[in-house]
Amino acid sequence: MAKRDYYEVLGVQKGASLDEIKKGYRKLAIKYHPDRNPGDKEAEEKFKEATEAYEVLSDDKKRPIYDQYGFAGLDGMGAGAAGGYSHAFTDFSDLFGGGFGDIFENLFGGGMGGMGGRSRRQEPGQGASLRYDLEIDFKDAVYGTKQDVRFTHEVPCSSCNGTGCAPGGSRKTCTTCNGMGQIGRSAGFFTVQQTCPTCGGTGKVIDSPCRACRGTGVEQKTSRVTLTIPAGVDEGKRIVIPHQGNAGRNGAPSGDLIVVLHVKEHEYFERDGYDLYCAAPVSLSQAALGATITIKSLDDKEIDLKIPAGTANGKIFRVKSEGVPAANGRKGDLYIKVMIQVPSKLTPAQKKLLEAYAAEENATTKPELISLSKLSR
Ligand SMILES: [Zn+2]
Ligand SMILES: [Zn+2]
Repeated sequence: MAKRDYYEVLGVQKGASLDEIKKGYRKLAIKYHPDRNPGDKEAEEKFKEATEAYEVLSDDKKRPIYDQYGFAGLDGMGAGAAGGYSHAFTDFSDLFGGGFGDIFENLFGGGMGGMGGRSRRQEPGQGASLRYDLEIDFKDAVYGTKQDVRFTHEVPCSSCNGTGCAPGGSRKTCTTCNGMGQIGRSAGFFTVQQTCPTCGGTGKVIDSPCRACRGTGVEQKTSRVTLTIPAGVDEGKRIVIPHQGNAGRNGAPSGDLIVVLHVKEHEYFERDGYDLYCAAPVSLSQAALGATITIKSLDDKEIDLKIPAGTANGKIFRVKSEGVPAANGRKGDLYIKVMIQVPSKLTPAQKKLLEAYAAEENATTKPELISLSKLSR
């Protein structure tokens, strides 16, 4: 199947800003989120497609290469290798070729979550890290919350305690590679080291494998953790829960569970970094005469906003520190854009008053053209 252009996938123009790219991806990520479309293969494909496009277009190294050379230029850069994706979980090494951590640090600019540090360097036999995409409410992203996450991961097999051996069985040194895990194969002048096909690189073979896990030493388990989502997180923020990924082989450490947050849109509020934006209706007379209007903030606090006499339509007022809490204890601001509402129905009394007003207006003001740039101020 032919691949679609990354810009087309995200529904943005070729010269789109990082912000536009982020917005485009957020929309798709929420729409095709696997949690929202269980068992829907097409949605899953769309989710993968969008993630891949986002990965490239928001990377200041990969994007210019893609712009100049297209998909061919990215071959071998670890982009676009999307495989092994199942439900809400992804084996990172499958989907992102191991470069995931750096990519997300760069793209989302977010630090790590409250629960853990940077994901650890991969050790031999270490279990795979798992990705979990979690959709959260706008308000929860701003003020923080706790949320239960249920996920399936591989844990050491309970029948054999992770050894992979049946009772009485044991692990013996692999005779094909003498326990080295690698075998040499001559190719012309060189000897190429290859993973041993008999033991799969572990250097050991099991004489009688555990029947429950067929010698793998692991079983599937559904677990639940309570995730603490700190205040002020934004789209794409990831929270690492150490050691909750898949179990490692032969006692190697487990991988991590990496929760990637997706923030739902709010009915009234929009967000830009730590600032919040909304619009408030004011009547003709309030704008002309001045008034104090009451606004409900995102956390349902009543805020009195003073509208001075002669306020123009579209004027933006700033309310300090009513925005999103930041990690440094500061808070963003709330911006309120006033929209003058022209009444569509008038009572007879209102009509009379406005007619009287119009008569006075005609007598005192001379209509003059205004330049568009002045109008928007
Ligand atoms: Zn077992
Ligand atoms: Zn071997």
